[in-house]
Parts: sequence; C-alpha cells; structure tokens
Amino acid sequence: MPELTLHAADEDAMYALGARLAQASGGRGVLYLHGDLGAGKTTLSRGILRGLGHAGAVKSPTFTLVEPYELTSGTVYHFDLYRLADPEELEFMGIRDYFTPEALCLVEWPERGQGVLPKPDLDITITPRADGRDLRLVSQGAHGEAWCAALAP
Ligand code: ADP
Ligand code: MG
Repeated sequence: MPELTLHAADEDAMYALGARLAQASGGRGVLYLHGDLGAGKTTLSRGILRGLGHAGAVKSPTFTLVEPYELTSGTVYHFDLYRLADPEELEFMGIRDYFTPEALCLVEWPERGQGVLPKPDLDITITPRADGRDLRLVSQGAHGEAWCAALAP
C-alpha cells in the first residue's frame, strides 16, 4: 500500500494513531513528519513514543534538534529541525550515527535537512481540518509499504 489518508478527530485519536504507527514500525525506520506549526507533528510523535512504552514526558526538541529515547524496542531519535539554519549542520552533528537500521527516527521539519538527511521509509503530512487533522501517508520502499498497510482501516 503506497499511499493512505487517515483522519484523527482529536488529540486522543492522534495518540491512538501514533500507537498504531509504533506497533507497525517494529521500533525501527525513518518517519518524516510534514505540516505547519501546530499541525500535530509533536503530538503524533508523543503517541508513537508512548506506543513503544515511553511513560515520561515528550518535549519538543526545538532547541536541541534531537532528543534520544532508550526504550525496550530500541532507540528512538526525535528530531525537530525547525531551527536548523543549514542542512550542513547535520553533518557536524554526526547525523549518520543516528540513522542506523536498529533505530526509529522521527523527523519534524525534514525540509530543513534536505540533501543531507537520509530518505524516509514513510512520509506523513498532517493538515488541520475543521474537525481535526488529516494525515496523508506516503511510503517510500518496502518497510514503509508494510508500515502503511498495517495502518489501513
Ligand atoms: P507541531 O509539532 O506540528 O507544531 P503540536 O503537536 O505541538 O504541533 O501541536 C498541535 C496542537 O494541535 C496541540 O495543541 C494538540 O493538542 C492539537 N492537536 C493535535 N492533534 C489534533 C487532532 N487530531 N485534532 C485536533 N487537535 C489536535
Ligand atoms: Mg513540533
């Protein structure tokens, strides 16, 4: 399944969707999260992290660019590249060390890292609607397809 559109009527529905994404990911892969400020990228990331068993807070890594989470499923790296001035900054961060086959990488504002950031398995675009949020899922390759298929209604 290469593409899929889902709807989340409220914040709780977003968390539930995140939990399903978490299960489908098997705790690995690269997920790009597109959408304007306030679209719900961090909310969905929180749902994914909770779905993988994280019980604590999930803050937006706007100033640190990345926040690591050591979970039983493995390591999750939550990126927020909103404040990235130049994609080359990612090289200085040692970006390759984060994008390993065993890790799950959630990336808010991936546009900011274009050219340096590894390709995603799954691209999600969140769009606010009068009655919640639409989520457009587009898979890029086999892992993303399986991930997408597991989310189909
Ligand atoms: P972003 O990370 O994209 O800037 P946040 O997740 O920080 O956005 O904030 C999104 C805001 O929208 C939060 O106030 C959250 O409660 C709300 N929200 C998230 N998902 C939904 C939804 N499906 N329907 C309505 N409101 C939502
Ligand atoms: Mg955010």
